[in-house]
Amino acid sequence: MRSVASSLPQNSVMCPMTVYKADLHCHSSYSDGTDTPTELVKLAKQIGLFGLSITDHDTLDAYPEAEVAAAAEGIALLPGIEFSAHHRGEAVHILGYAFSLSSLSIQTLCARHKSRRAHRNHLIIKKLKKLGIALDEEKLAQEKGSVGRPHLARLMVEQGIVASIQEAFIRYLGEGKPAYDPGEPFSVIETLEAIHASQGKAIIAHPHLCARSDLLYELFDLPFDGIEGYYGHFPRERALPWVTEAKKRGWIVTGGSDYHGGTKPHSFLGSSWVDLETWQKLEGPCIKESF
Ligand code: AMP
Ligand code: FE
Ligand code: FE
Ligand code: ZN
Repeated sequence: MRSVASSLPQNSVMCPMTVYKADLHCHSSYSDGTDTPTELVKLAKQIGLFGLSITDHDTLDAYPEAEVAAAAEGIALLPGIEFSAHHRGEAVHILGYAFSLSSLSIQTLCARHKSRRAHRNHLIIKKLKKLGIALDEEKLAQEKGSVGRPHLARLMVEQGIVASIQEAFIRYLGEGKPAYDPGEPFSVIETLEAIHASQGKAIIAHPHLCARSDLLYELFDLPFDGIEGYYGHFPRERALPWVTEAKKRGWIVTGGSDYHGGTKPHSFLGSSWVDLETWQKLEGPCIKESF
């Protein structure tokens, strides 16, 4: 993995006015984004980021290609992932960063998610069949990386069943809708254990989107290392409550756009970001900050 120092623009002098920005949350075509890892890295370079973490849902499949592209473009790449978990029946997303890509514990969790998803997709397809909707399962099998509801929704659009991905979620695939299936729940604790066993940092993703503040505060008592305060198109001042909570716990405050390319055209790469100091905290050893 390329170090930050070697990826910074050449002949640049670190002065207080310079803000080196890295986007720590985006998705590639190996999960539900539309840009390839190479396209993501090139876009990061084009918009002036120094660093990037590709956080695909439950898979690290983007990394072999991303590493080659990042070395070619001079972009610092931080290993990252967005794990799906459940807490009291509610879906929770957990970001993992700066782990060893070759770690068995993280690779095992990814493999378990792959079979969880295959089984769950099959159950959703069965539910759709009962509703009179026959999806081409063979086409779904050709998808690479982490396959889930966005791929099913895309297939429904292609087969003319719905007019948009949004409609597929609203009518069939969203939580509580007739073809929804939660799949096998993976706990927050087992996810934290896998990230920590691989020397990574575990971060609560996008607390802004959590409708249940009681559940969020339960997560605050678990051994996370940080929280994603700067998120998507939310103004930076919206991070304040999360910065306050992070300070109490000695946590890191991370940030990223949650860019998905064409899947979510309203979110732009670089719309939320972290500076070099935060990047270095993530790369560093697991020592809590003291305030
Ligand atoms: P899955 O991991 O298979 O449960 O799919 C979750 C993903 O579906 C999320 O990360 C979003 O990218 C996408 N998603 C969830 N709800 C919607 C929605 N209402 N419209 C479009 N995409 C959605
Ligand atoms: Fe997504
Ligand atoms: Fe998420
Ligand atoms: Zn995401």
